[in-house]
Amino acid sequence: MRTLVTGGAGFLGSHLCERLLAEGHEVICLDNFFTGRKNNIRHLLDDNRFEMMRHDVIDPFKVEVDWIFNLACPASPIHYQYNPIKTVKTSVMGAINCLGLAKRVKARIFQASTSEVYGDPTQHPQTEDYRGNVNPIGLRACYDEGKRCAETLFFDYHRENNVDIRVGRIFNTYGPRMLEDDGRVVSNFIIQALRGEDITVYGEGKQTRSFCYVDDLIEAFMRLMTQDSTIGPVNIGNPGEFTILELAEKVIELTGSASRVAFSPLPADDPVQRRPDLTLAKKHLDWEPTVRLDEGLGQTIEFFRNLRK
Ligand code: NAD
Ligand code: UDP
Repeated sequence: MRTLVTGGAGFLGSHLCERLLAEGHEVICLDNFFTGRKNNIRHLLDDNRFEMMRHDVIDPFKVEVDWIFNLACPASPIHYQYNPIKTVKTSVMGAINCLGLAKRVKARIFQASTSEVYGDPTQHPQTEDYRGNVNPIGLRACYDEGKRCAETLFFDYHRENNVDIRVGRIFNTYGPRMLEDDGRVVSNFIIQALRGEDITVYGEGKQTRSFCYVDDLIEAFMRLMTQDSTIGPVNIGNPGEFTILELAEKVIELTGSASRVAFSPLPADDPVQRRPDLTLAKKHLDWEPTVRLDEGLGQTIEFFRNLRK
């Protein structure tokens, strides 16, 4: 099997490349290094089944592969809002280029979609048939609508051209190799706690998220790609739901930090609650997450501690 991973030098992509190599795949990692890092994949470069391509998914490319995982897109609000027009292009033109390639070479193709397609959800927990509550002109729209359009393209290429698609809707995922400065809540809180700085809780911290450990997520990716009973969309995430204030307290406790919580304004359109309904994942993938938040946070704290040594 030869597999292309776009966004392969990023947080999730690098874990996926590792897993694919471990399962005997040849892996082509395509990345423009916007939020990806050479350090994430440096340890894979000695493996002659691993190849790195510096390329932007908005420009067409050709490779002969059996599988494609399309992960290229900045995922943290700070990064996807840095150049919102580029974010839309990455999601939409990236999807078109990947799907065109999949059509030509008859590859099975996975789209890294997101719980953000549900926007600020009015249904809780979110099932895949919920159509969402996205502000199309807000600050998060470049990401949310870009990802929604990518799903549309995946399903149209499937209906029109019989492309063999799989769509996973990923809920907040954390773990080693998150970027120190990418602004996502788990990395922010851990770094702040390790530095003894204030923990920046936005709003009153009553908004909720459900946090999935990266190893659980990659297992779900593999199961979605290797089964034939659904093309998705399938929610992938951890159903344990925590307020952001609870997360802050947990990080302080697990790091043994003297940091204190400091409240600052809530960003625009910040979703109030989020938790995946995993009925479809259990049914079709026989999958549910196994890593508890304390355990996953422990691994992630260890990673950031070592970075600082
Ligand atoms: P990340 O920012 O670490 O990784 C994204 C990767 O894509 C980076 O290596 C970046 O350099 C690359 N990239 C960005 N734009 C590109 C372009 N135009 N051309 C080529 N490469 C490009 O983020 P991540 O957390 O690893 O997320 C990976 C995918 O999963 C993204 O598509 C994201 O939307 C999706 N996702 C992630 C989460 C999460 O919680 N981590 C949740 C929902 C969806
Ligand atoms: N958040 C926070 N402090 C931070 C970073 C994030 O309180 O330093 C909050 C943010 O407002 C949101 C939640 O944590 O309610 C998750 O934010 P993240 O950017 O990680 O992901 P997303 O909002 O895309 O789910």
